[in-house]
Amino acid sequence: MDCHHFIGGCEVVEANGRYMDNIAPATGERIGRVALGNAETVDRAAQSASAAFPEWRDMRPMDRGRILVEIGRTIRANAKRLAEMEARETGKVVAQAMGEIEMSAQYFEYYGGLANIYYGEVINIGAPYHSYTRREPFGVIAAILPWNGPLNQGARAIAPALAVGNVAIAKPSEETSSTLVELARLAVEECGLPPGVINVVLGTGREAGEALVSHPKVRKVMFTGSVRAGREIGRIAAERIIPLTLELGGKSPNIIFEDADLDAAVVGAVRAFTMNAGQICIAGSRLLLHSSIHDAFLEKLVPAVQALKYGDQEDAAFGSITTAAQYERVNQFHKLAEADGAICLTGGEEPPSSGGGLFVRPTVYGGVTPDMRIAHEEAFAPILTVLRFESEAEAIAISNDSDYGLGAGVWTRDIGRAHRMAAALEAGQVFVNEYMAGGIETPFGGYKNSGYGREKGIEAMIHYTQLKCVTIRI
Ligand code: NAD
Repeated sequence: MDCHHFIGGCEVVEANGRYMDNIAPATGERIGRVALGNAETVDRAAQSASAAFPEWRDMRPMDRGRILVEIGRTIRANAKRLAEMEARETGKVVAQAMGEIEMSAQYFEYYGGLANIYYGEVINIGAPYHSYTRREPFGVIAAILPWNGPLNQGARAIAPALAVGNVAIAKPSEETSSTLVELARLAVEECGLPPGVINVVLGTGREAGEALVSHPKVRKVMFTGSVRAGREIGRIAAERIIPLTLELGGKSPNIIFEDADLDAAVVGAVRAFTMNAGQICIAGSRLLLHSSIHDAFLEKLVPAVQALKYGDQEDAAFGSITTAAQYERVNQFHKLAEADGAICLTGGEEPPSSGGGLFVRPTVYGGVTPDMRIAHEEAFAPILTVLRFESEAEAIAISNDSDYGLGAGVWTRDIGRAHRMAAALEAGQVFVNEYMAGGIETPFGGYKNSGYGREKGIEAMIHYTQLKCVTIRI
């Protein structure tokens, strides 16, 4: 089936007639074609969005919120169908996709519920003045999204932006476009969302993506993806003086102290680097083990990794890599590990593909030292690099010796140590005794090259508004 843009409340067939093939990564089958929009497509979406903006901005927030809650309910009512679409395009297992669709529904419900709470405060500067702040929407927001969690990341960006009165143009990854188009269609046709409030433009980053960031009507950009693209978008945004939220990559440490519940930590460490075939920006892909438990921990971890089911079975823990380019990057990472002299404890490079799905086995590299490149580079795959530390101070030094700063895990029974580590780690989120603990309510974002600005929680609403201060002499 062909996938078209969604602009002004309806599907729009690409006028330039350019498409790319949409390939299912788990089977190699051609699912259909995806439209490749350009600057004209983006302009059409921008005109449609800005025409819809005044009505949406001025709507009573509670009424806006009611529509968003209805979108959440409708996502849930269509969960199985959306999860199957998403699993086909991304190669993820359906159970994982179902979890992400549920989170997508929750974003709309949560921000729908908050739509009437966050608009400013009164400031007392004494008589005869009345001074107050107004949190106002920017207008047209662009959300440029990656392929690893298409609907989930789309909902995470769009729901808070809309809740505070913005309108949106989303550009999903050209590799995974269909569920976001379906979300926009359901929102307009079944939930009462006015046409033009959500538009979806399809196409490549170089063409549709850059055109979107450059368009004069786009007043704020939310980008999730690679550091490379983040930098390129940042340059255009700097030229235009528009604000950005950047959610980029990570090489997050997961630190196991000798006093931790080691059995729980083994389960948590395996999940942290294999979930969604490791294609999660916040994957716990650097395991730091205290030297006193290093060997004993690996004796439990390696068999647990070997026991994982992966592939296209229904009960697999994870499915395939999503794109051919990413599959190639995984092979390059293995070559780097070999050149670095790391020890492959299980897994390793896949034998050449027989033309089927883009599956890779979970891999653990031991004997990794902080000077190795694989201790720093993001694999974005189910590959774990294991380092050893002797003291709290050394664990902090190794963890913070990274260009990234997205997540960090700490496993300990010592509450004082948990708080000391949480304060010392340079990361946007720290998890203690459960990696990736949290929900749509907990703010999310990076330090250092992992980006800036925050998604999720009430913080996302702050980042989708601009502040005006009004002072009146009465
Ligand atoms: P990517 O940066 O190549 O693509 C992401 C999106 O940006 C796509 O929609 C693409 O078309 C678009 N794009 C690419 N170049 C662009 C440009 N110059 N201008 C405008 N748009 C452009 O990244 P990817 O390969 O799709 O995703 C993998 C990377 O994303 C990993 O590094 C991963 O860590 C990161 N990621 C981060 C998060 C997060 O929340 N922090 C989530 C998922 C992925």
